Amino acid sequence: MGCGTSKVLPEPPKDVQLDLVKKVEPFSGTKNDVYKHFITEVDSIGPLKAGFPATSQHAPSCPGVPTTGHTELPSEPPRRARVAKYRAKFDPRVTAKYDIKALIGRGSFSRVVRVEHRATRQPYAIKMIETKYREGREVCESELRVLRRVRHANIIQLVEVFETQERVYMVMELATGGELFDRIIAKGSFTERDATRVLQMVLDGVRYLHALGITHRDLKPENLLYYHPGTDSKIIITDFGLASARKKGDDCLMKTTCGTPEYIAPEVLVRKPYTNSVDMWALGVIAYILLSGTMPFEDDNRTRLYRQILRGKYSYLGEGTYTERRGNVDGGNFEKRNLNFTVSGGTGIESPGLVCPIWPRTSLTAC
Ligand code: ADP
Ligand code: MG
Repeated sequence: MGCGTSKVLPEPPKDVQLDLVKKVEPFSGTKNDVYKHFITEVDSIGPLKAGFPATSQHAPSCPGVPTTGHTELPSEPPRRARVAKYRAKFDPRVTAKYDIKALIGRGSFSRVVRVEHRATRQPYAIKMIETKYREGREVCESELRVLRRVRHANIIQLVEVFETQERVYMVMELATGGELFDRIIAKGSFTERDATRVLQMVLDGVRYLHALGITHRDLKPENLLYYHPGTDSKIIITDFGLASARKKGDDCLMKTTCGTPEYIAPEVLVRKPYTNSVDMWALGVIAYILLSGTMPFEDDNRTRLYRQILRGKYSYLGEGTYTERRGNVDGGNFEKRNLNFTVSGGTGIESPGLVCPIWPRTSLTAC
């Protein structure tokens, strides 16, 4: 996607039920009246997958078993029937080469299955994206534009792509350790050392992306996968459906309002042109979640959620202050007892670059 992106907001197709809608309603009022106008906006967004943890449908992952993006509901057809259903959606060219084993994730426009290469017995993941709707096509184009360019230990590796008129099948390396989301649910919260390790790996990947002019725009624990089930597993960044890719050295700003509401930076909400530091904002939110086991910004009502984000108002009730130690991720110097996520140096919508849970984005921008 070029700068000043042409990407249209991922609106839900009318005839399908989506379980994740990544669109946000931006503020469109005057600069001086931010909150007043913002909170009167109608919440037109559909149900969200990423409510965390109260509204989550995620279950703790089982070691050794690839984790699905959703808990199996009792009314759903048995796994074998579902696998058969998804197998039928696969192009014969794909099934000739890969044996479909299990459904391991699903999102707005996609289904992800675990497969086995018939000749080598090597396991892979295939993300199947429906492209008959414009939104699915755009998400797919964004994702492929990025995946075709990247090669990094902390970023999911694309292996090959099959395309038909209605679907695209992306064969990717398989991450078997489940989502970071599930490990947070299972553990409650991380120790400072473990949180730092996770963040360092994500930052490595983000630094690489930003150096290439790529902004992920949907960083969240559901899109960070463990490569294997062990505690020493590396983290892999996945899901580039909302990513923006510009030419190297092209520093023009992005405008599209997209992301997952709980992780969205304030400048996106108010439709300000924004930079790749929106990824750093999301990382701040993730850091907060890792350390506290709670969401910094959480409200079932989308308008109130946005208002919290715009005000930099956190729900965490910590002790002490963190201001002296902000941004010290590389040194592994998180001190939980010293966290209260107070933001100094300017809060509020006038200075979105300075408003961030845990660290000032300017000092940690990954490139
Ligand atoms: P969406 O854009 O629909 O959210 P994702 O790429 O995030 O699609 O995939 C949905 C889910 O499928 C992920 O959250 C993850 O649980 C699972 N998944 C995706 N890619 C892989 C992979 N390469 N290996 C293992 N699981 C995967
Ligand atoms: Mg995803």
